[in-house]
Amino acid sequence: MPESFFRENLDPEPLWPLHVQEHAPTGLASICIAATVGVAFGLLCGAGHLLKYNILHIATFWPADGFLVAYLLTQPRNRWWMPVLAAGLGDTIFILARGGSLRMSGALMLCNLAEVLVAALLLSKALDRQQDRQKEQHQDRYVDLASPSLMIRFLAFAIVLAPTVSALLGAEWYHFTLGIAFWPTVAKWFFPHAVGMAVMTPCTLAIWNPNLRKMVGRERLMPTVGMFLLVLVVSLAVFETRYSLRFLWLPLLMLVVFEAGILGALLATFEILIVATFFTLHGHGPFWMEKGATMQGSIFLLQSTILVLLVSIVPFAAILERQRDLRKRLLYGMQRYRLLADNSRDIVVLSTLEGHRLYVSPAVQDVTGWTPEEWTNQNSVELMHPDDVGPFQRILQEMSHGEDRRIFRYRTRHKNGRYCWMEASIRSLPDSISGMPNSFVANIREISQRVDAEQKLEAAYQQMQEQAQKDSLTGLANRRRFDDGLDMEWRRARRTGRPLAMMMVDIDHFKRINDTFGHRAGDHCLQAVATTLRQMARRPSDVIARYGGEEFAVLLPDVDLATARTMAEGLCSNVRGMLIDAGIGHMLSLTISVGVAAQVPDKNMRADLLVETADVALYAAKQAGRNRVMPEYDGGEASVTFPYRVQ
Ligand code: GH3
Ligand code: MG
Ligand code: MG
Repeated sequence: MPESFFRENLDPEPLWPLHVQEHAPTGLASICIAATVGVAFGLLCGAGHLLKYNILHIATFWPADGFLVAYLLTQPRNRWWMPVLAAGLGDTIFILARGGSLRMSGALMLCNLAEVLVAALLLSKALDRQQDRQKEQHQDRYVDLASPSLMIRFLAFAIVLAPTVSALLGAEWYHFTLGIAFWPTVAKWFFPHAVGMAVMTPCTLAIWNPNLRKMVGRERLMPTVGMFLLVLVVSLAVFETRYSLRFLWLPLLMLVVFEAGILGALLATFEILIVATFFTLHGHGPFWMEKGATMQGSIFLLQSTILVLLVSIVPFAAILERQRDLRKRLLYGMQRYRLLADNSRDIVVLSTLEGHRLYVSPAVQDVTGWTPEEWTNQNSVELMHPDDVGPFQRILQEMSHGEDRRIFRYRTRHKNGRYCWMEASIRSLPDSISGMPNSFVANIREISQRVDAEQKLEAAYQQMQEQAQKDSLTGLANRRRFDDGLDMEWRRARRTGRPLAMMMVDIDHFKRINDTFGHRAGDHCLQAVATTLRQMARRPSDVIARYGGEEFAVLLPDVDLATARTMAEGLCSNVRGMLIDAGIGHMLSLTISVGVAAQVPDKNMRADLLVETADVALYAAKQAGRNRVMPEYDGGEASVTFPYRVQ
């Protein structure tokens, strides 16, 4: 069966859609935006330095690089150079302003930009691939940042690879210029940058996430504010108590996930990170509770806690949101299909093969007067005409044995008590587990008017058929019907070996009656003779026909010549004794001549032979003086001259 087609795209909505801008700003606007990005980058570098507890140490997290990666991902690659240049400038100026040497600021700036470019380039290639795939499927030009493949790439490229590259470069520089130990510096550099990427890139991309607008929209603003306040209060509690309550963050973040999805979870983690950084740098909180804790160790604990929280919460949030989306989509799809059935003019019924209805569309009320609920509470056969129940149950049985569709006509009782004709197009449905048919869907429409028209047509056809075989004046069979009957009876007689007799009857001097009393009187006479013929040949198989003008032919199956002759004699005398009221003021009488023939047909004989023989006999009767019966010629009566030879 062909699948139905909906023009609408039913693929899942992206959880975190991002349109890569094809037409990025140009001219002065692009310079302004690049300058803003440069300033923001510089300030974030400054913020990163503030997050250090000592100028020689590395920050708890480094926000600048993640921010720039996020911005670059929203721009086409050929436009990156300007913001990258501005960011480099911003970073250098900031370090110079803080009293760093040009060499130092240049070197650190290059390490940062190397990290940004490694992450941004690899991720933007991944975005391109996703976009190409979608273009192939003729979908919109968005990418879903929350797709599993992109999340894994983000973890690999932005959180692991890019910070590793910059950490190696940075540690190398520190090692050569200041003689600081290489590997400890790699570790101190890597973790803040990894946390910075993990938090800042998605939090910056949140600006382009339509859900952010929903979160701070008029309806959701208060719950959102309340939620972030709760996160703040719990985080403060975690740092202000004497106990290590870090575990509270996990249920808290789960709550946020249920309330505000991935986006909420990311922003809440960012909030936790800020609070945790502040307290940890000031020597408070759970990260200082280990025995012999150092600043570097506490910061490392903080960083790893944040990374673990993110890595466990974000995929969980994505799965949850996807399932919610799926449920919404399923419900929507169901409602839409339901709408189709509900608005159909046909009655749509879903029923088990035992006839228990599960769904009945509203059209039933217009058609049958019963409500859908009333129909659902009744078994399929309850309102059905008793004559139709058997065939219907046979159809259900056939369906349970694999027959997949049937058309069924039946009568059902209207609420007003009358039966109406219905036509059901029935299709079996398989059980979702066993695959065996266990229910059916039927599209039912009323066809009472059609059936009525068909019945009238059938009656008219029957009438026409009869008329085509009847003589209108006498009501006897006509010549055509006689020929058909002769053919049939001839073959039957040949099969059974029984005789077939016929009479050819002609009214004597009929022309005179017509000439003397008029045609209408003649017609009356014809009708009177027809009545007498009917009285003589009464068997259902007998065929009495008006053969010609005032000639009649009678076919008598299973009658031999002698019997036929006797019958003809009786007929002759009945007609002779008849007084006909022909509407002329007095009664008329007339006589007939009858030729009789009978035959047990054999293989080589034609049916015409019987007619010819009877005809010849009739001719003989006329020749012999009329008003008599003449059986078929046996060659004995020399006084009769035959116009033609009998074969
Ligand atoms: P015969 O004894 O030799 O049969 O003489 P006939 O006058 O009957 O001769 P024929 O059989 O040739 O006559 C046929 C007449 O039957 C001619 C025609 O006027 C008359 N006829 C034929 N059909 C009708 C009919 O439908 N109504 C009437 N009133 N007369 C008919
Ligand atoms: Mg005649
Ligand atoms: Mg005649």
